Amino acid sequence: MEDCVFCKIIKGEIPSKKVYEDDEILAFYDINPIAKVHVLVIPKIHIESLLELKDEHKYLLFNIFEKINEVAEMVGVDKTGFRVISNVGKDAGQAVKHLHFHILGGETLPTR
Ligand code: AMP
Ligand code: ZN
Repeated sequence: MEDCVFCKIIKGEIPSKKVYEDDEILAFYDINPIAKVHVLVIPKIHIESLLELKDEHKYLLFNIFEKINEVAEMVGVDKTGFRVISNVGKDAGQAVKHLHFHILGGETLPTR
């Protein structure tokens, strides 16, 4: 996906402040944080959104959620709590068409 900003981050063509990386997952700080702690967790393969999930992604998805917990601990929000969001499509305001999970925390988050 040549014009995907997150694929470019994965390839190292765009810099990012990495929190965690392995063969299939990358976590990095959001460039425009909306909470004191704002990290994005993404698969390294290009999947457009949750709508594109297939059977073959079962293990990947479990691994992502396992890493979300580990990353939450790494950035120090596991004890205080955090929110996980994945925007899908237009009404949710999905700006980057590469599946990603926002981890938000570090302060009391708005309930709406
Ligand atoms: P969404 O609206 O769910 O598609 O979220 C996309 C997120 O990606 C936004 O919170 C952006 O601030 C973030 N973002 C876009 N480009 C970059 C980048 N180069 N590095 C880090 N975060 C980015
Ligand atoms: Zn991509």
